[in-house]
Amino acid sequence: MSDSGEPETSVQESQLAEQEDEMPKSWKKRMLDEDSKNESSRLKNPKKVAKRTSRKLEADFEPAVLPLDCSICKRPFLDPVVTNCYHYFCKKCALKRHTENNKCFVCNEPTLGVFSTAVEVKQRIAETQKEARAMVKEVSAMLEKASAMVDDARVISEKAAKMVEEVEIMVEKAADMAMTAEETATKAAKMVREADITMETAKAKMVKALALTKTVMWTV
Ligand SMILES: [Zn+2]
Ligand SMILES: [Zn+2]
Repeated sequence: MSDSGEPETSVQESQLAEQEDEMPKSWKKRMLDEDSKNESSRLKNPKKVAKRTSRKLEADFEPAVLPLDCSICKRPFLDPVVTNCYHYFCKKCALKRHTENNKCFVCNEPTLGVFSTAVEVKQRIAETQKEARAMVKEVSAMLEKASAMVDDARVISEKAAKMVEEVEIMVEKAADMAMTAEETATKAAKMVREADITMETAKAKMVKALALTKTVMWTV
């Protein structure tokens, strides 16, 4: 058990400090059950123990001990009230129960028809609602971001698809160009060969012509 309260309980801490004498009996009981395991001697003066350790108690059990649902209707409190035995109910549920049975629904202690507004539970409900609203806000902001990211991803993927298409077209063009270049090279080689042959033929003809010329000269 720690003697220091959590920072988030500080608001209730100051409020509860003023209402120390109104500390719910159920809390005192829980605290006493806890203490009895360690220090049974404290039970000799429960009132004194409750007062002395109420701050410690509050730190250990607040806010987990505060119920958010009515024990009668099992639904979240509607206009919560608290009995003298520190059990919480909807005002409507408590009054309806009282017309049928004047004992507490939870512990069977006589309620004497006393139902006080459960300020601490109302506060807790308000806090929970505030937390829930903040969470909803956070989640919707995250969803918005995620949806924007999906949009971005879609745009990028579209761009990538277009680039792939363009590259494919370029590859096709390059292949065409390579083929054309090969054909041209082949043609050029053929032309070179033909030119060689023509040159050879011309040379041979020239040799023949020269020989003929010599023959003619000798003959003359
Ligand atoms: Zn109820
Ligand atoms: Zn009760």
